[in-house]
Amino acid sequence: MQEFTMRITSVIDHAARESGPREIVTRWADGSETRTDWSGIRRDALKMAQALEALGLKKGDRVASLAMNHSRHLVSWYGVAGMGGVLHTVNPRLFDDQLEYIVNHAEDKVLCYDAMFQPIVDRMKERWTTVEHYICYDSGEHSPAFEDWIGTQNGDYEWVAGEETDPCMICYTSGTTGNPKGVQYEHRSTLMHAIAGLQPAAFNFSSASVMLPVVPMFHAASWGLPYAGAMAGIKFVFSCVNDPAVLHELMLREKVTDSAGVPTVWLAHFQYCDKEGIDLPPLKAATIGGSACPRFMIERLMKNGTRVQHAWGMTETSPIGTVGGPTWDWEELSFEERVNKTAMQGRPIFGVELRTVDLDDMATELPRDGKTSGALQIRGPWIIKRYFKAEEDAVDADGWFDTGDVGIIHPDGTLQLTDRTKDVIKSGGEWISSVELENAAVGHAGVAEAACVGMPHPKWDERPVLFVVRAEGSNVTGDEIVEHLKPLIAKWWLPDAVEFVDDIPHTATGKISKKDLRDRFSDYKLEA
Ligand code: ADP
Repeated sequence: MQEFTMRITSVIDHAARESGPREIVTRWADGSETRTDWSGIRRDALKMAQALEALGLKKGDRVASLAMNHSRHLVSWYGVAGMGGVLHTVNPRLFDDQLEYIVNHAEDKVLCYDAMFQPIVDRMKERWTTVEHYICYDSGEHSPAFEDWIGTQNGDYEWVAGEETDPCMICYTSGTTGNPKGVQYEHRSTLMHAIAGLQPAAFNFSSASVMLPVVPMFHAASWGLPYAGAMAGIKFVFSCVNDPAVLHELMLREKVTDSAGVPTVWLAHFQYCDKEGIDLPPLKAATIGGSACPRFMIERLMKNGTRVQHAWGMTETSPIGTVGGPTWDWEELSFEERVNKTAMQGRPIFGVELRTVDLDDMATELPRDGKTSGALQIRGPWIIKRYFKAEEDAVDADGWFDTGDVGIIHPDGTLQLTDRTKDVIKSGGEWISSVELENAAVGHAGVAEAACVGMPHPKWDERPVLFVVRAEGSNVTGDEIVEHLKPLIAKWWLPDAVEFVDDIPHTATGKISKKDLRDRFSDYKLEA
């Protein structure tokens, strides 16, 4: 067979050649809209690659983006990789210390940002020691404007050639403990991950698909959508704001068929539709991941005729590990059973292997019996081997990466996540899933948010304590919540105490930060 070097540039070449006129729509923060297409994205990416070289950038150099989802950001994904560079998508929601750390650690030379993040740039400029050039994706008020900057070039450019294993993108984990860690994706790993993402058991894309990704392009490579979408030649609809009213209008007007995002996005959308008394948008499929998708969300979307693809992954896994969707026994399942199955995290797509091991010794492989939970490990061609600039591999001798998640694998390959290794509660030698307890608690109408933490106990080592933020106007008591939990979980899982708090701390990516919660209650004592 012929030689073919797996480089990301082949993806944009293909998209421009085979799906050139397929539209890419952007709704900007100021309410204006622009339309380009795959040919336009490639043309601008060539110009951007040229413009970066004109600034003196060389193969392997890092370019940062601090931006929402839009066509110019998409151009950067291909333009940076096309000149042999590495795009570092920075999460604007990180805290200043993290922003300082990651940009300096990645040694970003150029930073392209949205005007809405000008305050971050103004604040951080002094602290970012490696950035030599700032480009603004919108206006040129404070920095050169992106369109003007690439407009100085003619686009007569050849993509930089190289190895399949050259890096093309770097993302940092938000780092719930210690400094964030960089995960560098390669051309080959990215391309393989994108091909795997196309399959019916994953994104199920065809050229007829119209995707509005709510998952940000700065979060875990936007789940690889900008690459998989280019391969299939789908239409993209981007929005720089996540206001449900804006998303709803775009979804209807642009005939969006697919969307992807974390569960909170849908929560906001439900609230909007309820308030307005309107139906949910008629989407064919919604990919939901990043944290567990609650049952009521799955039920409501399914009743709306939307296929729910509940996905699990992490920055370290490019990120797709597993995706849920109709399985071979779908026709035989009741609606209830379908919802139950979808509430789990789906099945591994080709390329990745999963296993669970004993939480005590972290070595003994556990049966795939749908009952036994253990530490979840993964390996495959788009799974991390070593963090950026780290001295040692992050995997064992056989390539297994420990995800920090705890789960159960079912005989049909379905993964059911039950907790994170550091959050699971050990009571009298037995494990309690803090996540299951929380999920059961938020099912009570008086509970807005709940977090369960293992607290030291003189007899049982640890016992669960449930921290609850009451829903607005609710006077729910601890006893009422325990009564609500009784039919839902094992008796010995019931929390020893329910504590009401005004707020629960979150990480920069919006997940509950149990570390901060534990710190806040470091003096907490349970009686024997
Ligand atoms: P960060 O580490 O910055 O929060 P990641 O996206 O890498 O961002 O987080 C990955 C983690 O998110 C996983 O290890 C898992 O704990 C959680 N997660 C992702 N998808 C799901 C899901 N579908 N259900 C439950 N947890 C999930």
